[in-house]
Amino acid sequence: MSRYITRLRVRRTYRWHGAPVGEDRKLKRLYHESMTISVEGRTENTTVSLGQYILIEGEDDDNPFVGQLLKLYNDDSGKKKTAVVQWYVRMCEIPQTKRKLLCRDPHPQEIFYYLDHSCDNEVDAETILSPVQIEYVSPEASFPEGKSKDILFVKLLWDTKTFRALSSDRMQPPLSPKSPPPSSRGPRARVLPTPDPTVMKRAVSGAVTWGSMSTGKINSEAESLHSASKLSAAKALSARRRSRATSGPHVRKKLDLCSPSKNMTRDDVLEEILDEPKGAGKTLTSKLNTSPTGRISISIRLTPLKEPISPAAQENDEESKTGTPSRRKVSTALKEPTLTALAEEDHEDSPVQTDATPRSKRKAAQVVSSRIRKQLNLLKNKVDLQSDGEDGEDDDDCFLPAKIDLQSSSDEDAEAKIDSEDELVVKRRRGSRTPRSTEKTCTSARTPRKTPNKTTAPATPRTPRHATPSIPSRSAPARKPGNVLEEARARLHVSSVPESLPCREQEFQDIYNFVESKVIDGTGGCMYISGVPGTGKTATVHEVIRSLHLASEQDEIPQFRFIEINGMKMTDPHQAYVQILQKLTDQKATPDHAAALLEKRFSAPAPKKETTVLLVDELDLLWTRKQNVMYNLFDWPTRRNARLVVLTIANTMDLPERIMINRVASRLGLTRMSFQPYTFKQLQQIITSRLNRVKAFEEDALQLVSRKVAALSGDARRCLDICRRATEICEHSAGQQKGSGLVGMSHVMETLDEMFSSSYITAIRCASLQEQLFLRAVIAEFRRLGLEEATFQQVFVQHQALCRVEGLQPASVSEGLAVCQRLGSCRLLLLEGSRLDLLLRIRLNVSQDDVLYALKAD
Ligand code: ATP
Ligand code: MG
Repeated sequence: MSRYITRLRVRRTYRWHGAPVGEDRKLKRLYHESMTISVEGRTENTTVSLGQYILIEGEDDDNPFVGQLLKLYNDDSGKKKTAVVQWYVRMCEIPQTKRKLLCRDPHPQEIFYYLDHSCDNEVDAETILSPVQIEYVSPEASFPEGKSKDILFVKLLWDTKTFRALSSDRMQPPLSPKSPPPSSRGPRARVLPTPDPTVMKRAVSGAVTWGSMSTGKINSEAESLHSASKLSAAKALSARRRSRATSGPHVRKKLDLCSPSKNMTRDDVLEEILDEPKGAGKTLTSKLNTSPTGRISISIRLTPLKEPISPAAQENDEESKTGTPSRRKVSTALKEPTLTALAEEDHEDSPVQTDATPRSKRKAAQVVSSRIRKQLNLLKNKVDLQSDGEDGEDDDDCFLPAKIDLQSSSDEDAEAKIDSEDELVVKRRRGSRTPRSTEKTCTSARTPRKTPNKTTAPATPRTPRHATPSIPSRSAPARKPGNVLEEARARLHVSSVPESLPCREQEFQDIYNFVESKVIDGTGGCMYISGVPGTGKTATVHEVIRSLHLASEQDEIPQFRFIEINGMKMTDPHQAYVQILQKLTDQKATPDHAAALLEKRFSAPAPKKETTVLLVDELDLLWTRKQNVMYNLFDWPTRRNARLVVLTIANTMDLPERIMINRVASRLGLTRMSFQPYTFKQLQQIITSRLNRVKAFEEDALQLVSRKVAALSGDARRCLDICRRATEICEHSAGQQKGSGLVGMSHVMETLDEMFSSSYITAIRCASLQEQLFLRAVIAEFRRLGLEEATFQQVFVQHQALCRVEGLQPASVSEGLAVCQRLGSCRLLLLEGSRLDLLLRIRLNVSQDDVLYALKAD
């Protein structure tokens, strides 16, 4: 069991805690100081603030990633919350071969400061799980004993090559050399309010890093976490506060200016904070406006209040009543169960990111996490939407002026309103018809709107925020199968992933080699995979990708990016561009714009680009009149700088030829692979291997299914469906009949009858001999062409041949056309063409299986 509650099990909601504290207009970012995490089913929320140590969701539930929160921001769309972190790594994250460099066994709670400037330090903020406590242990000292298992210890740093002693300085924000220590300003002891706009403004071109931590309840005591800190500011505060420290609860804070200050020194800033006990919060907002580029980060880590708030905190309460938005943050923060301290390091100067194993692993895990998160958020928002509908009045409340919020004397009220305000911003961003303009109003406003503007409020009904349907997540674990038949049924379900793919070893190997070689060489290419339905094309490609991912995780091959689109899941073929772009860059665009951006992306040189493997399933459905979508999919991988491997899957064999009319097909150098229908033996093997020693079928029953399906189509999906249905029938009849209790011939026969008893099958059985022959001819021609469409002329040739085989007089063209027309009028065939002539296009309106079954059963 995992010690940490990960998102797979609980739903989390992330909200900014309070208003933004800074803005980068160039990058269109709004910086925040803290974020509230609500966990479904828990009444208490958690706040993570800058400087705190946090657990970040990864692949391993037991060992989430560890980092220190350096920045929090959202983009101008407001949808994406990003966190910048300083990574810490566990021993298990260090490559196996390098672990021995430690020359001792690691402490079970030991982590290492991760020093790798090439490592991507930006993560999706919604993968943050919770705060965590990290204790610095000096390299010579031994690890403390008897401490909680949840505390992590850091002693050394890992720079991807060696373990080195970690100086506690590294865990502290860098100090501006110009700034004299704040201690010289004399001691001041009071709880620092939440980031003060006054400070922000005065640190116009500087940046403030300000954090606090608490291991107890709030009072005016503050202390630096890292006693060895060389930061004067931190020292000053620490010394002051330590001298007042009692055994009771305390707050620890420290402060630093990280970037070169122009107009103001850090000490001035510090003094501002300390000197302005009451008006601080008030001026914060206004001053913040004037320092949009100030990089600000704050950390406040507090434990839940058990005792009355200290006088200092109460003083802040008073501030809130005077209309200080920042006060609300404090009161909210008081409720947050959080721990540990702050340290900030300026990572602005980090060199360009390059590939690194931990980074890519983290990235991969982040991708998975963010997918899960998106799904959960979708669900969450559905619930929101419902409640919107129920209490529409509440929404108006969201527009309550900040003043009213601030007049609330109760912390709970304040918190609730902050939350609703935050949510409102999110709602506006998500639900607005004109997101851009609304977003700007919401995010750029430093002071909350005073009153809702009823006249300008949109009169039109709201558009649903999420039109995309999603499958609700399972709240309880799936029930374990109770008996053999139930287990067999579960194993035979087409959606269950088979443990192995028998009979596709060669195809697997070929596709694996193809993609692997491209990934290793850093080149691109395209493979065209065709075959009739149910021959394991999609399953094999997925298995290949899974194996390649494993290989890349073990550093056997370079990292690559896998994305998948499916023609079946698109309303319009041009959506392919939109989906590819979105999956690659998380960017939304119109199909035309997306096509242009992709064109640019795959043409531009980028030496450090990782290979992208794109799977295009059900390619047949991406057919457009100009065939440009398919053409591009075949063409992009041929670009020199694309590093793109495209795997296309289709049912039609000659699709590329048909697309490439007038274009140079040979230049594309397609690698082709054809999946043949399964033989009866192969189908039998597939079923047996899927059942995996679950003895649910009688031998001859299994043979019958396999033979039937192999004779019709060789479709494994159909075979699995029949077996599953036969199992169901057997289960239902188990009570009534005596027998082995296994699926037998009678169950299979009943299934076959049931599955092939449509009116079409009856119509085929009742058709005249010539009509039946014509249907046979249609199928023969389809198989010859590898297509699902043929002209009357082509079918007619087959029909005549079949007549001769059957010893019948070959029909004349007009007789043939009459037969074809009759089959068309009873909708067994779909006829396309303005005239009834040789070029009439013929398609089947029933599956080939059904036709063959109907004809064979005679
Ligand atoms: P379509 O063209 O209709 O998309 P496909 O060729 O992609 O069909 P898959 O979806 O890969 O077919 O396979 C259909 C079902 O049959 C899946 O449930 C798959 O797990 C199963 N299957 C196919 N081949 C095998 C195999 N060799 N071993 C085990 N299961 C298989
Ligand atoms: Mg498929």
